[in-house]
Amino acid sequence: MNKRCLTTGGKLWQQGHLKSALCSYRMAGLVEKGGELYEAVWDPVYADDRATALETVEALRAIYASRDNFTYRGPGRKYFLSGIAECSDCHEPSPANPEGSTCDSDPLSCGQQHKTFTRKTINGTPYYVCYQCSRGRSAKNLDAFVTGHVLRLLNSSAFRAALSDRAQQEQSHRPNFAGQIAALRARQQEAKAQMKNLASYPGLDPALLAQAITSFDTEIARLQREAGAVASTGLLDRLAGISEADWEELDVAIRSEALKMLYRVIVYRTAKRGPGFDASAIKMVRNKGPRSLAQLPPA
Ligand SMILES: [Zn+2]
Ligand SMILES: [Zn+2]
Repeated sequence: MNKRCLTTGGKLWQQGHLKSALCSYRMAGLVEKGGELYEAVWDPVYADDRATALETVEALRAIYASRDNFTYRGPGRKYFLSGIAECSDCHEPSPANPEGSTCDSDPLSCGQQHKTFTRKTINGTPYYVCYQCSRGRSAKNLDAFVTGHVLRLLNSSAFRAALSDRAQQEQSHRPNFAGQIAALRARQQEAKAQMKNLASYPGLDPALLAQAITSFDTEIARLQREAGAVASTGLLDRLAGISEADWEELDVAIRSEALKMLYRVIVYRTAKRGPGFDASAIKMVRNKGPRSLAQLPPA
C-alpha cells in the first residue's frame, strides 16, 4: 500500500490507518454525524449502491472485530440500538414510497425493510425515536431489556454447547476461502485477457466469455460472504459465557454487531402510558443468519 500512495494526510500507511480507512463509512458513500449516517456527495467505493457498500463496511468491521479480539475502536457507532431496533408500523423509504410508508401487515412477514430508531435526547433523557411516526422508547430501558436477552442467550448452556460443537466441526474442515478467491480471480483475469484479444481465440464465444466473467464475480462475492460469516461467528465464540460487567466494557460497535447476528429487535405500539417499560411491546426474533448460526438453539 505504501508503494501505491500515501494517506490523505501525506503520511505512510500503518496497520491501524488502513483498517480505519477500509472500515470507514466513507467507503459506502456515507458520512457519520452524531452517531447517524447521512448520504455523502461522493459515490460509494465498495458497490454501486450505498446499501450494498454499507454491508461490506459492516462485514469488514465484524471481521476485524473478531480477528483482533475486540481491539477495533472505529469511529461511527455510539449507541447500542440506533439503526437496529425497528418500528413495527413504519417502512423505510423506498423508490416506490420515497416518504416511507405504513406497514399494514406483519413486520415479520411483510418482507420490507422497517424504519429503524434514532437516538435522541429529549429534555435531558435519552430516547430511541422513530422519525416517521414519532414513537419513542427510553434508551436506558430498551438497552437494558435487549442486553438482558442477549446475555441470557450467550450464557445459556444449550447455546454454548452448540457453539463448541460447531467450532469442533469447523476446525476439521474449514474451507480455504482466501486460496479459492485468489484462484477464481486468476481465472477471471485470464478470461478478461481472452476477451480483449478475441481475434487470437477463434474458437471462443464472446457471449459465453462475458457470462463467465460475470459468474466469477458472483462466485467471488459468495466466497467473500462466507468468509465474512465464518469470521463473524468467531465473534460469538468469544462472547459465549461473557459476564454482564465484561459485556459493558466492550466497544458498543462490538455489542451491536453481536446483537445483529443474533436478533432482530422490533418495537410495537404500546397502550401503556406514563413511566415504566412495557416489555410485551418488544419482540426479539432470532436471526437465521448464515447456515452455521441457524443450527444454534433459539433463546
Ligand atoms: Zn412491514
Ligand atoms: Zn414508526
